[in-house]
Amino acid sequence: MTSHVFPRNSKAPPPQVIRGEGVYLFDKDGKSYLNFGDAAVSCLGHGDARVTAAVKAQMDEVAFAHTGFFTSDPAERLADKLVSLAPGDLDRVYFVSGGSEAMEAAIKLARQYYLETGEPQRHKIVARRQSYHGNTLGALATGGNAWRRAQFAPILIDVSHVSPCYAYRGLSEGETDEAYVDRLIDELEAEFQSLGPETVMAFVAEPVVGATLGAVGPVGDYFARVREVCDRHGILLILDEVMCGMGRTGTLFACEQFGVSPDICAIAKGLGGGYQPIGATLCTKAIHDAILNGSGFFQHGHTYLGHPVACAAGLAVLERLVDDEVLARVTPSGTHFRQALRDRLGQHPHVGDIRGSGLFCGVELVADRETKAPWSPEARLHARIKAAAFSDGLICYPMGGTIDGKNGDHVLLAPPFIADHTQLDEAADILAGAIDRSIAQAT
Ligand code: PLP
Repeated sequence: MTSHVFPRNSKAPPPQVIRGEGVYLFDKDGKSYLNFGDAAVSCLGHGDARVTAAVKAQMDEVAFAHTGFFTSDPAERLADKLVSLAPGDLDRVYFVSGGSEAMEAAIKLARQYYLETGEPQRHKIVARRQSYHGNTLGALATGGNAWRRAQFAPILIDVSHVSPCYAYRGLSEGETDEAYVDRLIDELEAEFQSLGPETVMAFVAEPVVGATLGAVGPVGDYFARVREVCDRHGILLILDEVMCGMGRTGTLFACEQFGVSPDICAIAKGLGGGYQPIGATLCTKAIHDAILNGSGFFQHGHTYLGHPVACAAGLAVLERLVDDEVLARVTPSGTHFRQALRDRLGQHPHVGDIRGSGLFCGVELVADRETKAPWSPEARLHARIKAAAFSDGLICYPMGGTIDGKNGDHVLLAPPFIADHTQLDEAADILAGAIDRSIAQAT
């Protein structure tokens, strides 16, 4: 029968999912899949009783009310809880429906902040290469992933990109972490100077890079140094925690681990845990006050802002993570999982790096371990691994190297926080087999 759904990949429509239970998804033919690669959404797995009950109860109360007229109890309570747990001065929460929307709001908020505070010349954004901030036009322009941007380049706003902090490939032979960070900070400073720092409104980065690099965190005091340069020039720091936030790396906000807090922070994915589509843009009191004491109106909005059912889901997820201490499982389980990956793949001639923090793990594939030469894009190794793992019952998130050839194929793994050791070990086994089969096909 012909499907009328427009799928992501029209040449390979996917099987139909019919059930989710714990860390597993089941398709129509009864096949089960370990769900470790749904872009880091499913933090609590499927069928969490507390979250589903909260969603159902909220639907009985009020399903939707437009934020042009009302706030709601779940929105107020979720904002209170997020602010009580957020680092630094983050004080206000603007609820949206996903990660790209959270980043669009972040960018517009930065622009409006400078209009309200009398610096209308600030409109430029500096971000990093090999990053991903979403697929809407502003977020896509901000991201530095060459492949995703390529065909839309003529309709994207102009954003400058500097090097990411990516030690596996960025660190030069014999260079210390300190010298590497110095070099990256010099590059950032030089970029600000060439643009005119008084014209730059924001620097944007993922604290731990997800989709485009595969769980790459910073080295040393990189983010503290970034914060210092931004402060010196009055440039806002926007951190995109859409993928790495909400406990994924072991702390609720990944930036807590670097002792840095942003002016604006985007979260999504794990905030709703897949039970509802929800994202949020958090900002400092200073930014909100600028609007409050100025125009009073953030010139931005979507119909489903602060959707009560989505907020009820977000609140229940956060209660599970924090009050029920599911978050406490992330660091020890992540340590176990990376060890399981190292046991199976640590000596593999085509595995260059196994990395990550908490339950946010990356495996980078190389053609040659010594030289770190990436696989040629024509081999489509990432696509082969995705297909092989899927057919063996593991959902993972592989990505190819970028068009600029600076990095190789990698596999991102983001298990639900409830995964037990047996399930983590099984995923590592399946992945190791899928990598071997894919390499045999590609050579
Ligand atoms: N920012 C980051 C870091 C992401 O990883 C993603 C999605 O993968 C987004 C933004 C966009 O989020 P969404 O797909 O929910 O719009």
